[in-house]
Amino acid sequence: MVFKKAMGIVVSSKNFFFDLLDFFIPNLCLICNEKINRSLFSLCDNCLKQIEVSNQKDIKEFFENNLASQKLISNFYSKYVFVKDGLFQKIVHELKYNGKSRIGILLGIELGKDLLKQNWFNEIDFIVPVPIHLIKKLNRGFNQSLLIAKGIYHSTGKAVNEKIIKRIRNTETQTHLHLHERIENVKDAFKVISKEKVIGKNILIIDDVCTTGSTVNEVARTLLNAGANKISLSTLAFVKEKDFSLIV
Ligand SMILES: [Zn+2]
Repeated sequence: MVFKKAMGIVVSSKNFFFDLLDFFIPNLCLICNEKINRSLFSLCDNCLKQIEVSNQKDIKEFFENNLASQKLISNFYSKYVFVKDGLFQKIVHELKYNGKSRIGILLGIELGKDLLKQNWFNEIDFIVPVPIHLIKKLNRGFNQSLLIAKGIYHSTGKAVNEKIIKRIRNTETQTHLHLHERIENVKDAFKVISKEKVIGKNILIIDDVCTTGSTVNEVARTLLNAGANKISLSTLAFVKEKDFSLIV
């Protein structure tokens, strides 16, 4: 839609709206407070580039140490590394606890661009974000893994199916639990709702941060028990050092 002013100046109504919004509520980068051009996201390009990225060696090591032995998850990719007091920690905190939900979509878009380069990504039938319990969703207002999955859809076109599995137990926070306690904590916490949609499918599980793999392994186990063919995993980040006191 286009406005035509009396003086003959043509103004796009969309830009006009955002310019006006910018004037009253400037869009600031949540990390450096720099004013950024009006966009749907709250992170400037400079800060986005500074987030600690992973490398193939660390990804492989994390996969072998935390996921491979369970033989549930076949492929793994994570774009960032969760470092204590690092930029990613700050950003994921804004996402999960300060309601900055758009960051989830923005980082999901970035993750999706990398996933297209993984040789196993092509075989994925659809994406399943790790479900959170209804009570947690009501408290937080959104499931951060679903936002990341939506960002991945934006970059890759892979369908997101958030309704085939649900969390039936509201598990206690895992922050202070050790590995064996975490495994017990999430045992039987998930249930497949639409078994017919799972059978024979290659599914990509999405989560924000992977610490020990106990949650995603349980989601994978539940999907495989329901008849899924192969499970892959992608997270925004993984915790390199095993510091269980990290807030994730
Ligand atoms: Zn910034």
